[in-house]
Amino acid sequence: MNCLSQPLRTVRGVGPVTEKHLSTLGIHNLRDLLFHLPVRYLDRSHIIPVADVRPGQDCLVRGVMAAPSQLFTRGGRRGVSSRLTDATGSIRCIWFGSASWVSRWAGKEVVIAGRATLRSPPSILHPEIEDFDVELDAYLPVYRSTAGLSQRRLRTLSRTTLDALPETLPSLAPADCAARCTVSSLKEALRLAHYPLSAEQGIQAQERVRLEALIPVQVAVARRRAVLRGQSAPAMPSSVDALASFLRDLPFALTRSQAEALTEIRRDLAAPRPMHRLLQGDVGSGKTVVAAAAGIIALAHGHQVALMAPTEVLADQHGRVVGPWLGRLGYGCALLTGGVSAADRRDIRHRLASGQPLLVVGTHALLQESVGFARLGLVIIDEQHRFGLAQRAMLASKGDSAHLLVMTATPIPRSLAMTVYGHLDLSVLSEKPPGRKPVSTAWFDHTSRAGAWERLRDATRCGIQALVVAPLVEESESLEARGAVELYHDLSRGALRDVSVGLVHGRMKAADKDDAVEAFRSGSLQVLVCTTVVEVGLDARGAGMLLVDGAERFGLSQLHQLRGRIGRGGQDAECLLITGEEITDDAAQRIQALLTTDDGFRLAELDLALRGPGALLGPAQHGRFADALCADPRLVVLAKECARRIVESGAPPDPDLEGVLRGLEDSFALEAG
Ligand code: ADP
Ligand code: MG
Repeated sequence: MNCLSQPLRTVRGVGPVTEKHLSTLGIHNLRDLLFHLPVRYLDRSHIIPVADVRPGQDCLVRGVMAAPSQLFTRGGRRGVSSRLTDATGSIRCIWFGSASWVSRWAGKEVVIAGRATLRSPPSILHPEIEDFDVELDAYLPVYRSTAGLSQRRLRTLSRTTLDALPETLPSLAPADCAARCTVSSLKEALRLAHYPLSAEQGIQAQERVRLEALIPVQVAVARRRAVLRGQSAPAMPSSVDALASFLRDLPFALTRSQAEALTEIRRDLAAPRPMHRLLQGDVGSGKTVVAAAAGIIALAHGHQVALMAPTEVLADQHGRVVGPWLGRLGYGCALLTGGVSAADRRDIRHRLASGQPLLVVGTHALLQESVGFARLGLVIIDEQHRFGLAQRAMLASKGDSAHLLVMTATPIPRSLAMTVYGHLDLSVLSEKPPGRKPVSTAWFDHTSRAGAWERLRDATRCGIQALVVAPLVEESESLEARGAVELYHDLSRGALRDVSVGLVHGRMKAADKDDAVEAFRSGSLQVLVCTTVVEVGLDARGAGMLLVDGAERFGLSQLHQLRGRIGRGGQDAECLLITGEEITDDAAQRIQALLTTDDGFRLAELDLALRGPGALLGPAQHGRFADALCADPRLVVLAKECARRIVESGAPPDPDLEGVLRGLEDSFALEAG
């Protein structure tokens, strides 16, 4: 057995309680434990005076800890607060939760370690406390941890484990690949990654560990690809008149990257194997027309096409856009959503069952058992990350090995695309259609929020169309809807009473939603108060302003998507973000990021850095793969190379590795769901 696969119980001092804590971090064996890399290192030789602590800084401070007192935030959280004082001043320390252990240090001289908050004067959240006279290493690893598991405990565990392991560890990386890392020996890399002589050395050593962690991921990816390539699908050569005439009649020329994506799709469809392609393009980059072109090829070969979208608003919009394009070529397009009448549904089901070439646009309604396709040749899934793996598979299985095109406007950082979506081929729309100006974005905090509403009023007086997004209420569509309704009444009776204001939210009937969105799109409504139902799918060229209230509650990609809804007609467009009184450092950084760039790919990288991959993979998988997923794309390329060799060598699968692979397959599914 691979010594790294040994259970945690084999580490001195680990019992069921520690084991349980570790498992919440995704740590189940020695490999997981050692591959749980420090997120940063603390320079212990560098104790600074309290007066020098800067917002956001990682720091060590020495002083006397005061007696702690109870803390209640306005948001209802409980905690403990205390102050540490040295000759230059004092700084507030905060621990959320019961943290009764803090009182043990009252009145003592201690060293605390932690990161200062971004606000001025800074506090330190959850600092570690140590006796000031403990003997200390120069650089200490700081791990992502969980309640009940102190940094000190994690350090002891990594150290004990390392010491007990042999000098030569079994490694998946062939020697010449490992040699491309600064530290090539796995054991040495692990030692230096946890206990470096400098932070830089630690980071370099981590690279070798990440490589080792990435290889099984890439082996899994390679095997998945091989399975997909082994299947068969109808070959659809794309030299079809319909496609040429579609492209000729478009009111615009394809952008360079749209044309490239289409070339790649045509090549895929022409082969007797199913296409498995991810079309990735920032919001507004023009994915719909590429999807329609693919659909036309399938229709021209007598096949049926299913285009699935996550919301009724988006499905409806696709129907409006794609329907006329197909109609001109003599092909049918039908809409199948929850809002379609029973008679129309019956008719569509009948047409599909009869094998008539038809493109059906729909929501989850397409997945119903009663919807059967006689000749499904192409499945297109828009905003694919909104669907679970099972749902996507269910739609694909309605055809006999249909081609598959999935699309997303949420750019995925490259390293992630190469791992989690590594089994798919990738096309990227890297530019936007010509003539769009960057949207200018402004941030209003709770003290200046009136300014944002004034700006909205002035803009609407000048005839500018605006979207107003009501605060997000997590997990409660009905509360969120109520918020939007209130906002709508406030505005339409108050500040905006002289302009036409409409309302759309998730609790409205499908037809009413359509009407509101359509009225806004056609320009007969000037302001649309909405919830995030418009996050995907609203293509209103006239919209020149977006106001988001409670912007701190939205995710980065959500705000980016919303912002992508305005300025589509080439006008100057403005996005106003209002935040409330209680705003976390993370939220402030999200808003700051939006002010700095409107490049969806940059924002996705920032988002991953801010939220950590745990948010994408779910906490249970975090420990095992997170570091691997955050890796530098060059390292992923190297891991791919190692994996290719492992797969090609045809070596019998290592049972340990097989276990790791099964875990990965699960995490793929998790991520996709
Ligand atoms: P998304 O990638 O977000 O799905 P859409 O497909 O909705 O983007 O396209 C956004 C808008 O850009 C649509 O109004 C579409 O007609 C327009 N568009 C798409 N491609 C081009 C192009 N090559 N030139 C000009 N406008 C385009
Ligand atoms: Mg789209």
